[in-house]
Amino acid sequence: MIELFRERDMTRVGQFQSLLESEGIRTFVRNEYLSVTEASIPVFFPALCILDEKDHARAVELIRAYEADVGNRANENCICPNCGEESPGTFASCWNCGADIPDPGG
Ligand SMILES: [Zn+2]
Repeated sequence: MIELFRERDMTRVGQFQSLLESEGIRTFVRNEYLSVTEASIPVFFPALCILDEKDHARAVELIRAYEADVGNRANENCICPNCGEESPGTFASCWNCGADIPDPGG
């Protein structure tokens, strides 16, 4: 068994676990039942482990691809704060009035 990553947020750990399981990689979550309030130091965070070490490289690839996918917001439309028109998320300024569009990521 090899630890893949540790994450405070059990929801994310669960997401990656189902992603890997759906690809036929057998996983195990350590510290699954510790609550976040009890676990204030990283050593107690939920850890996603892989039962078979030879699946490790593939698991890393899958997670990387998944993250890239989730991080890609270029197809989302942004609403112009000035005129209310929708512009593609990749636009830095409104196609209609030229006002700056705030980055959707913050
Ligand atoms: Zn506008």
